[in-house]
Amino acid sequence: HAVVHWFKCDLRTYDNKSLYLASKLAKSHGVPLICLHIVSPQDYKAHMTSPVRVDFALRTLEVLKDDLAKLDIPLYTEVVEERRAIPDRILDLCDGWGASHIFCNIEYEVDELRREALMTRKGLERGIAVTAVHDTCVVAPGELSSGTGGQYAVYSPWYRAWVAYIHRHPQQLQTFDTPSPNPASSRQDFKDIFDSNIPEAPENKRLTKEEKTRFRSMWPPGEHEAHERLDKFLKEKVEKYKDTRNFPAVNTTAMLSVHFSSGTLSARTAVARARDANTTNALDGGHVGIKGWISEIAWRDFYKHVLVNWPYVCMNKPFKPEYTNIRWEYDEALFQKWCTGQTGFPFIDAAMRQLNHMGYMHNRARMGVASFLAKDLLIDWRRGERYFMEHLIDGDFASNNGGWGFSASTGVDPQPYFRIFNPHLQSEKFDPDGEYIRKWVPELANVRGKAIHDPYERGSEREAKKNGYPKACVEHKASRARALARYKEGLGRD
Ligand code: FAD
Repeated sequence: HAVVHWFKCDLRTYDNKSLYLASKLAKSHGVPLICLHIVSPQDYKAHMTSPVRVDFALRTLEVLKDDLAKLDIPLYTEVVEERRAIPDRILDLCDGWGASHIFCNIEYEVDELRREALMTRKGLERGIAVTAVHDTCVVAPGELSSGTGGQYAVYSPWYRAWVAYIHRHPQQLQTFDTPSPNPASSRQDFKDIFDSNIPEAPENKRLTKEEKTRFRSMWPPGEHEAHERLDKFLKEKVEKYKDTRNFPAVNTTAMLSVHFSSGTLSARTAVARARDANTTNALDGGHVGIKGWISEIAWRDFYKHVLVNWPYVCMNKPFKPEYTNIRWEYDEALFQKWCTGQTGFPFIDAAMRQLNHMGYMHNRARMGVASFLAKDLLIDWRRGERYFMEHLIDGDFASNNGGWGFSASTGVDPQPYFRIFNPHLQSEKFDPDGEYIRKWVPELANVRGKAIHDPYERGSEREAKKNGYPKACVEHKASRARALARYKEGLGRD
């Protein structure tokens, strides 16, 4: 017999609950532990996984394979074209290895939950136990309910319940050790697996040579890198986090989202370490920087809880059904301007160019461009949500859907629909010196003073024109009025 751990978006050895349990069971029976990862091109396509995310996951698998090999644990990877075929293929592999137990961490998106349910049923029929455990959230979905037993659809009371739950269950922040070497998984018996290679990216998800070089230097893979970043952040940056987190020009956030979404770092580890760095050891008291950072990680949990409680958000539906009937514009030319950072709104263009160049965008800028697309351009927010997934290295369904719903006012606990960001004022407020704009929009590098926020209207028309920077593609005041009217119309209000 053998025990199998199935890696999905949990590409780490430390603090991985399923891997820990699988290793414990294998050792207690003196049987081999085999790890498995399936690459499914159809899955990538269906979920619009960006090429940069695929590349990051495959590079991480290389690191993981080496780390596991040091523990005498083989990692088997295989490409399974059709995603429906995955459960059967895994069970066949387990049969071949004589494995009687598969462990994995639960993924909460609808397709994934269905897949796990199917595999559990099929496993039962074939005498293979499938154990799927809660791991990705600090507090598992389903654990928190309001006084009346309902699910929270507002962040603040949910967050208070989240903190109280962790204080009542401090073991929630206990991390799981990396498995120790397993002598039963001998190199001779599993030579083929130890010697096998990690697959290449499927053809339609491949990066160009230039992209490979660019992204690889920016985003080193693996859990060691994640831990280094976390350490550095807690040591050098968290103190100023609260005061600086909203300014995209300064590099003061943790830049750990790629590690949370690929699972190279667990949210539990991050919260536990941040709490330990706090003078009062509290989650919601003591140091304001640490407290603020923990509450951001809680947002990640919140959006995952939302998708478990209201799974229709996975099906292209707004969280608030009454927002289904907004008449959106489908102006392809404007959408392309937004995608490429050519809207003529410098802050928006800087942000979109950051995304296209790095596969990452600062949170404040994400809110800005999302509001701009949904309200100023009145383009269906789902197109933006999709573009983000296709380009982000940290693309995560729940956080992305939640962020878009927040900004477009159609989601859970959103901005009220009548609160419409003014892209010029946002720019002045969050990039007061225009540093972020100058970095990403070189056409405006020589524009001085406040003109950077709106060069054509504030005295730098010649410079902007000379360098080919476009004029604003819409007029904010008129767009705002149009958005208000359309939202009201969609909601059936006068
Ligand atoms: P830090 O400020 O250091 O925060 C630490 C961690 O907390 C983050 O890594 C992240 O896991 C979590 N976090 C912070 N803010 C949020 C938030 N608003 N919602 C949920 N989790 C949060 N985040 C993703 O990981 N993947 C996405 O696909 C994604 N799409 C987004 C789309 C929109 C429209 C918006 C407004 C936000 C989106 N976010 C997404 C949330 C947020 O922008 C990023 O998590 C953050 O910018 C990552 O940078 P960081 O690691 O330096 O964050």
